[in-house]
Amino acid sequence: MTPLERALHERIKAEGPITVEAYMEACNAYYYATRDPLGADGDFTTAPEISQMFGELVGAALADCWTRSGAPDNAIYVELGPGRGTLAADALRVLRAAGFRGAVHLVETSPTLREAQRQSLPEAIWHDEIASLPGEPILLVANEFLDALPIRQHVGGIERKVSTVGGALAFDRDGEVVETSPAREAAVRAIASHLAAHGGIALIIDYGHERSAPGDTVQAVRAHRYAPVLEQPGEQDLTAHVDFEAVARIAGEGGAAVTPLVTQGDWLRALGIEARADSLARTNPDRAAEISATLQRLTAPQAMGDLFKVIALHAPAWAAPAGLV
Ligand code: SAH
Repeated sequence: MTPLERALHERIKAEGPITVEAYMEACNAYYYATRDPLGADGDFTTAPEISQMFGELVGAALADCWTRSGAPDNAIYVELGPGRGTLAADALRVLRAAGFRGAVHLVETSPTLREAQRQSLPEAIWHDEIASLPGEPILLVANEFLDALPIRQHVGGIERKVSTVGGALAFDRDGEVVETSPAREAAVRAIASHLAAHGGIALIIDYGHERSAPGDTVQAVRAHRYAPVLEQPGEQDLTAHVDFEAVARIAGEGGAAVTPLVTQGDWLRALGIEARADSLARTNPDRAAEISATLQRLTAPQAMGDLFKVIALHAPAWAAPAGLV
């Protein structure tokens, strides 16, 4: 039994079955606090870890928006759940080259990943939550952040829980699952109200669906393979699909302008990833095959290109970002 599994069994014995939301929250808090899960030797690989082109194009999109919005010098770079800090380092290289001098603010709860981020971004300032960011315009990015936040599940209007059956964890009911996520809604509300009050833009990149629909989307990944959700709690990555219809609605209600949702493949192509790959391959001819393979991984429909989606929220007075309108 994993240490967390033992603790969950004791908790269920004391309190009764716990909600899927409480289960996911406990698992991910433990999981991210105790390891760096990214990369070939870890459990999963994200777009910025696949290629520098991803972070560079995020930086270019933010720089373009910032410049067209008057290049305010009090704007800050913000990232939610920055992992190893790779995306931030790549994006900031491009932002700095465009004249951006703002501070770097990272919202990250894991002490282990904060330490990894400190290595690539020694100047950063860390936060536990979005609400504690300073009241300045933000250039915000959140890649694979919302999918890690806990979701609630309901079956037939009754909240689904995790109990124990014969010494193993088990769901207390099955049937058509409807998911909601108060934690995600709170994050989107906080971003939107910051944008409305202080200006800026937020790029949200994640896997998920364009329209709210029933379905159990919680998945566990370990060592790059899917695994049963209730096995090895705290030792595998738990995520759920992002409901982008809910994101757009809540952001709009919070006073942000919301762009259409586009696929990651279409967005990266609109931002010029093919030209960037060509130029990288020309200056690094020995890496041409690898660069072409990473381009395919990020953009091909059967790889990440169609599953991952991008939406931007921005202050109504700010320019809408390129590639999303
Ligand atoms: N954006 C990175 C990492 C994605 S993994 C990349 O693309 O590589 C999810 C990230 O979100 C990790 O950094 C994790 O520690 C962080 N995270 C998870 N739950 C969080 C929470 N509730 N508050 C802040 N950060 C959280």
